[in-house]
Amino acid sequence: MDLTLLYRGPLASCDYDCPYCPFAKRRDSREQLHTDRRCLERFAGWAAARTDDRLSVLFTPWGEGLVRSWYRRTLVELSHRAHIRRVAIQTNLSCRTDWLADADLDTLALWCTYHPGQTPYDRFLAKCQDLARRGVRFSVGVVGLPEHLEQARRLRADLPEQVYLWVNAAEGHTYDDAEAGHWTALDPLFPYSRHPHASAGLPCRTGESVLSVDGDGTVRRCHFVRTELGNLYDGSYRTALRPRPCPLAVCDCHIGYVHLETLPLYDVFAGGVLERIPALTTVARQLGPLLDASVERND
Ligand code: SF4
Ligand code: SF4
Repeated sequence: MDLTLLYRGPLASCDYDCPYCPFAKRRDSREQLHTDRRCLERFAGWAAARTDDRLSVLFTPWGEGLVRSWYRRTLVELSHRAHIRRVAIQTNLSCRTDWLADADLDTLALWCTYHPGQTPYDRFLAKCQDLARRGVRFSVGVVGLPEHLEQARRLRADLPEQVYLWVNAAEGHTYDDAEAGHWTALDPLFPYSRHPHASAGLPCRTGESVLSVDGDGTVRRCHFVRTELGNLYDGSYRTALRPRPCPLAVCDCHIGYVHLETLPLYDVFAGGVLERIPALTTVARQLGPLLDASVERND
């Protein structure tokens, strides 16, 4: 069976302090870090042993994972497993990058976010250039706040052309057409992020082939629907896997709506759904206006 797992353990600390952070950040105590490490190692052990399935794994921590050795080690180890098709993590890219030399770069990928104000532009760009030199699959994105626009333009101009730069609509911010146009010029797929997607009753792959897993192994269909489907480690989730419509009114986060069957995003991001890399970045840019029209119809 092909299964996609979105893992989010207890880790909640971050080395950055973004004013727009959507997460309930905290300072993790030594004990909390120990618990996070134990949970991650348990999950990694389960994934490594689950050789009957083909797994794709995205780590979506509340905080920053790659500044912790156990996340780096887990990504490297899972990248070498034949039944793991992809292992990726959302990161602010503040970590060092030398550990990537030990990974299978056909399997590992990074979803990187640039946070202006938290790190000097040149340092972040140098990290991206380093990833490109190493042959790492990665996307780079920014939160589409007005004060980020110039930095985002600069980043788009300086990044290698094949690196996809995504833009997330800022929570609580509405975009008039002119403003949306500025962001769409940088990310032709921005129209998918601009408005929350009405999702009530619509078919979504979560709960069937995509699952959210927490540190205790509790399985839910996605990070946003709290109903539990079972537990990963006692196998009870397995009998719960089936198609089911979305029970929420809207889905406004990329890691959720990318799995909506009514959107064409599995085709747009074919081969790069988890790390948010479109199949053909250049073509996607050219298709921007057409995609814009298609997403308006789906809203
Ligand atoms: S880098 Fe991410 S997790 Fe850390 S403070 Fe910024 S938004 Fe929050
Ligand atoms: S559409 Fe979004 S909120 Fe609804 S089930 Fe899918 S991922 Fe979850």
